[in-house]
Amino acid sequence: MEPKKTVWDNPAEIIRNLQPDHPVMAFAPTVLQDRARQFLQGFPGLVTYAVKSNPDEAVIQNLVTAGIKGFDLASPFEIDLVGRLAPGAARHYHNPVRSPREIAHAVREGILAWSVDSRSELDKLIAQVPTQMDGKGVEISARFKLPVSGAAYDFGSKFGATPDLAADLLRLVADRGYVPSLTFHPGTQCADPAAWASYIRMARRICDMSGVKAHRLNVGGGFPSHRVLGGKPDLQAIFTEISQMVAECFGADAPLLVCEPGRGLCADAYALITRVKAVRDGTDVFLNDGVYGGLSELPVIGNLDRIEVLTPQGKPRTGARIGRVVFGPTCDSLDRLPGELGLPDDLAEDDYVIFHGAGAYSMVTNTRFNGFGAMTRATVMGFE
Ligand SMILES: *Cc1c(COP(=O)(O)O)cnc(C)c1O
Repeated sequence: MEPKKTVWDNPAEIIRNLQPDHPVMAFAPTVLQDRARQFLQGFPGLVTYAVKSNPDEAVIQNLVTAGIKGFDLASPFEIDLVGRLAPGAARHYHNPVRSPREIAHAVREGILAWSVDSRSELDKLIAQVPTQMDGKGVEISARFKLPVSGAAYDFGSKFGATPDLAADLLRLVADRGYVPSLTFHPGTQCADPAAWASYIRMARRICDMSGVKAHRLNVGGGFPSHRVLGGKPDLQAIFTEISQMVAECFGADAPLLVCEPGRGLCADAYALITRVKAVRDGTDVFLNDGVYGGLSELPVIGNLDRIEVLTPQGKPRTGARIGRVVFGPTCDSLDRLPGELGLPDDLAEDDYVIFHGAGAYSMVTNTRFNGFGAMTRATVMGFE
């Protein structure tokens, strides 16, 4: 399916005109830019975009247009992508585990901000990363973790030093002549402002334990998107909590703040248009996309329930919602959405099921498993 127009009014217009048989990601640049401005105006520090959540070039370009000046990167590919699309933007290499070749690549690219959560990885940085580049100090942030609270799933199981180790790392970083900073990630889709408060309190304790003043405090990603009806995220409440806790814990001597939202910036700027392949014997629904495609996160994070169902003519189905088991198109039995999805009882084969807020960890993790996954992107003015 090749879009005939460059910009559509909304997903319904795409459906009416193209009746796409493959999944389509409908992208609304205005929604993305509005969200970026909300972060830029509300967050009391530098806003960087976590590219892994959606590295679509259109996302990066629109964020730059909206005024985003920094990016959180995890790989040489992402470092080069942002170097090309956003020259001059700050590039933070915040994947705490890297091969020596990856480190060498990032040094050649002039990366000035790194994170670590272990002594062995810090030793690898010390071996290759200068303390100054182009007259600027090179920053290494110790990444710490707390037992998870408030997020959709635990990030601390993979990355993050205990507070004691983080204090040691912070001191080692300072002793070696790097700019010492701290970073954490409270866990993705974290709707509870209190999660940030406990991390900020611990950041203060780590500074006290190490006797080192953190130059910057990166409060991570984890900012929620609008995944479920009634669950509209209150970003301002989180920004306010962060400001107040930093003032309370650090007073006038506060570190500069950085955040690195992925999902919170990009997710709500996309809607995933899927099509009903079959309603098997009137009960189970088979879609043309599933957990090996744009819905890969749902088994770990829960269903997206901001769903609309349209006929092939683009008319909304208004029947009473009933719980249905929903399967994806592959022959793998894991390819099933969790639990049941509330879908209108007049839903029929060839209808379209639109998942709103589907822009994060979806296009980028789409696979071609079983020959499916031919996903395209189309630009829309909005979603209504
Ligand atoms: C994935 C990731 C992010 C973005 O997380 P979201 O929950 O999408 O906001 C930010 N920082 C780091 C280090 C990450 O790995």
